[in-house]
Amino acid sequence: MAKEEPREFKAEVVVPYELAVGRTWTTFYDTLKEEKILGTKCRKCGRVFVPPRTFCPRCFEEMDEWVEVAQEGVVETWALINMPFYGQQLEIPFVSAQIRLDGSDTGFTHRIGGFDLKDFETVRTRVKLGSRVRTVWSKEKKGGILDIDYFEPVK
Ligand SMILES: [Zn+2]
Repeated sequence: MAKEEPREFKAEVVVPYELAVGRTWTTFYDTLKEEKILGTKCRKCGRVFVPPRTFCPRCFEEMDEWVEVAQEGVVETWALINMPFYGQQLEIPFVSAQIRLDGSDTGFTHRIGGFDLKDFETVRTRVKLGSRVRTVWSKEKKGGILDIDYFEPVK
């Protein structure tokens, strides 16, 4: 008897879910509505986390001290996203970046924009590792991460 090839079929599994935001992110989102960016500070090592965390991943100390950080910071890493992918919520093209805001010690993932992103060479001249960016707020606040519309390069 000839060896039978395994049969396959293609399917798509969709798993909608809702997550409880929790008190730390609720505070963070509520203050974004007031155009303030807050982080939590570890009393032991002094590091400031943006976005905030409930405990320090290095010291395992609970963090309940809030500090306001600057609305300007440094690009630590970035990528131009110009291909659609499953579950994508932002319109392409967009620049996903990790930004260390002044007064914080961690990278904050958000997008960089405010200029033409269609041409990669243009993006490369505007966005560089270590370059400075500042917050551009959305006009309509919903108490979410997109209350910050994007970060724009500082000239
Ligand atoms: Zn710590």
